[in-house]
Amino acid sequence: MSQPLKRGRSAPKLNRACMLCGLVQSLSQFRNDGCPNCESVLHLGDNEDLARECTSPTFEGLVAANGSESSWVARWLRIEHFVPGLYAVRVVGKLPDEIRVDLAQQGIDYRPRDGTVQD
Ligand SMILES: [Zn+2]
Repeated sequence: MSQPLKRGRSAPKLNRACMLCGLVQSLSQFRNDGCPNCESVLHLGDNEDLARECTSPTFEGLVAANGSESSWVARWLRIEHFVPGLYAVRVVGKLPDEIRVDLAQQGIDYRPRDGTVQD
C-alpha cells in the first residue's frame, strides 16, 4: 500500500480519510472510535470491516480545520459540525451501496469526494 503522506516519527500515522466527511485519521482510530463527525450515521466504531469500507487510504489536498474560524473549510467540504483536525479535499473511493441507501434514509445527501460530482 502506498503512503500518500510522509510524516515524522512522532506523529500519529494518518493514513485513512473518511469518505463521508474527509476527516483524516489512522485506521486504528477509525476502527476503535469511528469517525467523530460521522459516527452517529456510519457506526464505524468496533467494526473493522465497515471502518475499512467507509474510509480510503487514497486521498489528497489536506486542509487543517481547527474550529469555528475555519467555517469556510466546513462550507467548502460540506460539513456543518466538524471536529478540529485534518481533512482531505479529495478522497478516492465511494461508500458501499448499502451505506448510501442507509444515509439517504437518514436524509443525508452523500456526495462522493472523489471528484466525480461537480457543483
Ligand atoms: Zn467522517
